[in-house]
Amino acid sequence: MSDADAPDAEGDASTEIERLDREYVFGTWSYQKEVSPTEVTGAEGVRFTDARGNEYLDLSGQLMCSNLGHSADAVADAIAEQAQEGAYFAPGFTTEARARLGEKLAAVTPGDLSKTFFSTSGTEAIEAAIKMARLYTGKHKIVSRYRSYHGATYGSISVTGDPRRLPAEPGIPGAIKAPDPYDYGSTLDPMESVEYIDEMLMLEGDTVAAVLVEPIVGSNGILVPPDDYLPRLKEIAHDHDTLLICDEVMSGFGRTGEWFGCDVFDVTPDIMTMAKGLSGAYAPLGATIVSDDVAEHFEDNMLVHGHTYAGHPVTVAAGLAAVETYERENLVEHAGEVGDYLGTRLDELAEDHPSVGDVRGVGLFRGIELTKRADERVPFGHREDKLSTGTTVVDEVTQDAYERGVYVASMINTLIIAPPLTITESDVDEAVAVLDEALAVSDEAMEE
Ligand code: PMP
Repeated sequence: MSDADAPDAEGDASTEIERLDREYVFGTWSYQKEVSPTEVTGAEGVRFTDARGNEYLDLSGQLMCSNLGHSADAVADAIAEQAQEGAYFAPGFTTEARARLGEKLAAVTPGDLSKTFFSTSGTEAIEAAIKMARLYTGKHKIVSRYRSYHGATYGSISVTGDPRRLPAEPGIPGAIKAPDPYDYGSTLDPMESVEYIDEMLMLEGDTVAAVLVEPIVGSNGILVPPDDYLPRLKEIAHDHDTLLICDEVMSGFGRTGEWFGCDVFDVTPDIMTMAKGLSGAYAPLGATIVSDDVAEHFEDNMLVHGHTYAGHPVTVAAGLAAVETYERENLVEHAGEVGDYLGTRLDELAEDHPSVGDVRGVGLFRGIELTKRADERVPFGHREDKLSTGTTVVDEVTQDAYERGVYVASMINTLIIAPPLTITESDVDEAVAVLDEALAVSDEAMEE
């Protein structure tokens, strides 16, 4: 510890960098008085290190985005090379990486998804999807689901279903919400919930541009629909001349053991959004890929959309190198295999812990839902503040795991497990052993 890192008179043990950051930089989604950033100083493979020298196994890939882990040197090199060759050119110019990444995405995405609009984040990928669907159909409403997150900018937060949308309401016009396929926690059967959307589209008349879903819901609890759900949803959307948009920002790029979440159900949407794993989180890159029909529409109709950094050369160089890394290292297949192992280990964990109500997911995309009365599936109470994203008991579980060297994210009452795809079975064993100890906290907090 340096002098600058010594505790101050009030006993604040934060580092100088943490104190500076706390003073000058806003924390996201937080009361600023509660923000307490941790200074990180390095990362390798599936692990990262803080300024105190503690090492953590990254069981959530930071924000469910570091799919390649922290040692993807080919991506780092591609970024450096492009920055040296020419860091930025306006979108009217192209680079080899931009064109080749476009071609590559057409190849790895399903069906006739073929032409990509590049941006710099998931939320911008969604904004482009909303705008393209509206321009293509000439209709304006977007049906999305309550247990969903699609981003923080105005269009994306308006189509988001979870409570983060509330301060942005009334948001953009025409953002309507439908129920979710949440078998464990909802009174509605998942297949009933999809028929409900059929009725909604009928009752809304010919005004709905698109139905927007995460094929497997991410931050709202890793909700996997039954096999027939997504095919039926596509059929319903098309019966009503409505597009299907799949938000693959979290579920894409090997996370599920397939390239994309919709591949798990053999469905090709009309529009797909991507970010996070697209660059392995090495650079801020988002993308919106559309079907031949939608692409064709914009030959003679203006695409009234763009950003200074659309297809930014450094970000697409990162994206191309990342997709090549998934391919070269067979990471999608590896994620499926280690994911099966993880699933088995989590099922065993559930048997030993009464507070584990449900374990679900596919590949390396898994959730552990904690309950205070498991028989009745009663979740641990949320904080009174509806905008808060955690529960105290679940926070205590993640904190306990963190102190034992495993970083795991949570949302509401579900632990979200989405490690780098490079994780091994022995890393999984190490993480499960720590979760085994941390779940004692929720077991003890259960109600009789
Ligand atoms: N869609 C989904 C499914 C997401 O999980 C997220 C981010 N967690 C977003 C969109 C927004 O992405 P970003 O934070 O990069 O804007």
